[in-house]
Amino acid sequence: MAKLSVAIIGAGLGGLATAAALRRAGVEVNVYEQASKFTRLGAGIQIGCNAMKVLRAFGLEPVLRAAAFYPRSWNNKEYDTGDVRFDMIFGPPAEERYGAPYLLGHRGDLHAALASVVPAEHVHLDHRVIDIAQQANGQVTLNFANGKAVTADAVVAADGVHSFVKKRLFGRDEPNFTGRIAYRTVFPAELLGGYPIDDCTKWWGPDRHIVIYYVKPDRSEVYFVTSQPEPGFTVESWSAMGDVNELRQAFADFHPQVCHVLQSCPSVHKWALVDRDPLPRWSAGNITLLGDACHPMTPYMAQGAAMAIEDAAVLSRCLEGVERGGVADAFRRFEATRKPRTSRVQLSSRTNTWLKNPTDPDWVYGYDAWNAPLAEFEAA
Ligand code: FAD
Repeated sequence: MAKLSVAIIGAGLGGLATAAALRRAGVEVNVYEQASKFTRLGAGIQIGCNAMKVLRAFGLEPVLRAAAFYPRSWNNKEYDTGDVRFDMIFGPPAEERYGAPYLLGHRGDLHAALASVVPAEHVHLDHRVIDIAQQANGQVTLNFANGKAVTADAVVAADGVHSFVKKRLFGRDEPNFTGRIAYRTVFPAELLGGYPIDDCTKWWGPDRHIVIYYVKPDRSEVYFVTSQPEPGFTVESWSAMGDVNELRQAFADFHPQVCHVLQSCPSVHKWALVDRDPLPRWSAGNITLLGDACHPMTPYMAQGAAMAIEDAAVLSRCLEGVERGGVADAFRRFEATRKPRTSRVQLSSRTNTWLKNPTDPDWVYGYDAWNAPLAEFEAA
């Protein structure tokens, strides 16, 4: 049997995790990324126990444990008094309960770890997809802005919230702008001047919040991300800069610990927060969407990348041993398996209540994408 060939669009966290998972399932993969190089974005990322279970199978647990911070908890406090609303304990108790650690890392370290398990000759930078067409035999042809073209048995579009493929297959409607923005930055902890801060705390204000945590095992780097109203700002770019004084002003009535962190940070980026309602369909024939392309969500549960990483594992299980003629059904099965869970996370995240009060988080962190049942699916 010839190996199934899959072209993945996008070398973000979802695309690279998919490449790693499909290679494990014996599928031939090539990843096509529009960027001409990988840049190390100044952002933290919470790697939930559910995501770690997937990443472990790629051999990445030691490297991520060595690169990331292992927090005692995700604490939730009142913005001004610092009174504890709910302290979600991670560390060894959560590791034992959910079967994997909860880590707080630098997004660049997670991306580099995933890139390290996909051979460089299978990752094609400077390849922006500008056209996609399915042939009568099921194969799919991609055309790139650089003039090249490839044909594969199947395509996985992990091309992010503004997915070109989503627009081409399922309509051009834009994601919902929430009317809110996020300021974020990573900076050296020495700039705190010895001031002690919590491991990881979300400070809940009346109409805004800030999450602050370390991203290195030795507490040498700090990250924060906010959410606050700013209906007029719609720029979604990881590189757009924000005004640090405006940010300090916006959080001036927060607890002294928050004010100290904001006083200490040298610069910030600014990002418009968007999401979507669950989409009716993710796949058409031998083409499927994956990750933010099909279920973009607000970052309030810190689960967007985790959902893309889980998608990767489930997709690889659906495609294992499948030939070209079975891909469309395998993609439908993938969608049927994943959509109830990703829709629930998308809609829960939108309410921004996760862990605000005592919460049972087992359904999120306890999920194991390698062993969760695949949906029963009647082939067309
Ligand atoms: P992306 O990361 O957007 O990757 C898409 C890739 O496709 C990009 O590399 C892009 O260049 C490429 N591409 C796009 N179009 C084309 C094309 N036409 N041709 C070729 N390539 C193309 N999630 C967590 O799990 N934990 C967190 O703590 C967390 N914090 C977050 C904080 C903030 C402020 C935000 C905004 C999000 C956060 N998320 C978090 C969510 C997470 O960042 C996303 O869910 C995740 O990055 C989605 O990965 P993806 O691969 O689907 O898409």
